[in-house]
Amino acid sequence: MKYISTRGNAPELTFEEAMLTGLARDGGLYVPQTIPTMSPDEIAALAGLPYEEAAFRVMKPFIGECFTDEEFKGIIARAYEGFRHDARAPLVQLGANHFLMELFHGPTLAFKDFAMQLIGQLFQFSLARRGERVTIVGATSGDTGSAAIEAFRGLDNVDVFILFPHGRVSDIQRKQMTTPEDANVHALALDGDFDDCQARLKDMFNDFDFRDGVRLAGVNSINWARVLAQVVYYFTTAASLGAPHRKVSFTVPTGNFGDIFAGYIAKKMGLPIDRLVIATNQNDILHRTMETSAYTKEGVVASISPSMDIQVSSNFERALFFAYDRDGNAVGQLMDELSSGAFTVSQGAMQTLREDFSSGRASEAETLATIQWAFAHCEEVLCPHSAVGVKVANEHLGETPMITLATAHPAKFPDAVEQAMGARPALPPHMADMMDKPERVTRVPNDLAHLTTLIKDRITSR
Ligand SMILES: *Cc1c(COP(=O)(O)O)cnc(C)c1O
Repeated sequence: MKYISTRGNAPELTFEEAMLTGLARDGGLYVPQTIPTMSPDEIAALAGLPYEEAAFRVMKPFIGECFTDEEFKGIIARAYEGFRHDARAPLVQLGANHFLMELFHGPTLAFKDFAMQLIGQLFQFSLARRGERVTIVGATSGDTGSAAIEAFRGLDNVDVFILFPHGRVSDIQRKQMTTPEDANVHALALDGDFDDCQARLKDMFNDFDFRDGVRLAGVNSINWARVLAQVVYYFTTAASLGAPHRKVSFTVPTGNFGDIFAGYIAKKMGLPIDRLVIATNQNDILHRTMETSAYTKEGVVASISPSMDIQVSSNFERALFFAYDRDGNAVGQLMDELSSGAFTVSQGAMQTLREDFSSGRASEAETLATIQWAFAHCEEVLCPHSAVGVKVANEHLGETPMITLATAHPAKFPDAVEQAMGARPALPPHMADMMDKPERVTRVPNDLAHLTTLIKDRITSR
């Protein structure tokens, strides 16, 4: 199994190399050269399996020869042992034909743990056997950073630097990033928004001297291994609701398009998914693109669902790659145009996208109203991101069972939940003391040279 860049101009890599590399050297994102498929019998056989066993079967064909079966099973087992629900991704029912997949039972209470815990174990295993070390730099709107720090803290061969937008993450998200005491963890509060964080991260990857000098590795949702980890729960959930004999649809609270793109891969692998519904908050570039074909950057507006407050949706490039029939040059051209603010998706590509994806958006008021609605009608306390999903899903209900992804625990966003319901959701007991722990964080300007110097200094002084 080889991996190729969406811009068609970078070396082909194995799974392990693509994982350790992150962003391709031509600025593109790695995708599998061919997408393996699962037969209807193989899909049916997933029903009722432990999550780890299903994960092994779904991901194995993408790994190639990088790990033996025993090694890969061990990695998966260690990745999910810290989850606090035996089903890992349990389903609850919201209505006759509407289900909620709870993805927030991992160590940092957001779905990012599914991918990040796996990637932590994969890195640990690979770096140890190669005798190498890496510097991980991540940009986060909140949940990626805490999940990455939790997954990599204390590991021998890794320094982890996380850039988050100063003042724009929730108190709990910030505490999760700033309270770990491990010397290899570096939380950086950047003066800017999430897109600035993401842009500086891309700059670092495009600065080849720096990139090679510190052996830079990325764990943002551009990392293929993260997308792959998220493919699994589409399969387990669909199988538990009767796939492959029954089709299902998914609604996904979307920011960087990583989670919903995993659903698209699941569909390409043969899982009978009817619609993949993109749910955005008021930062609705993807919804606007689906409606108008024009992918136009606008300023980011801070919302009560901050993990979706972005305007450049990195993984959308992967969907474009397939919509443009794997034409790396065409994708590269669109991305060049984007640097001046916008591009228009061709009619043919748009048609291809619309075959799989629908979209909708939720305003701030609609998000709050949906938190109230879910509690009144289903006794379910939603986080604001999940509420965006439920609002949009409710507009797309039909004969096919709809599964909305609940992407974070409500206690991670207590202000929004309190605003909607008048009561603050409690943190799970094992986290109750986090808010009192001392913080370690460095405030940094939105400046590439400053950041690269700081990172080099930190890793040489350790
Ligand atoms: C990251 C995140 C999202 C958006 O997921 P993408 O893969 O970036 O589209 C939605 N909700 C929560 C809680 C998140 O942390």
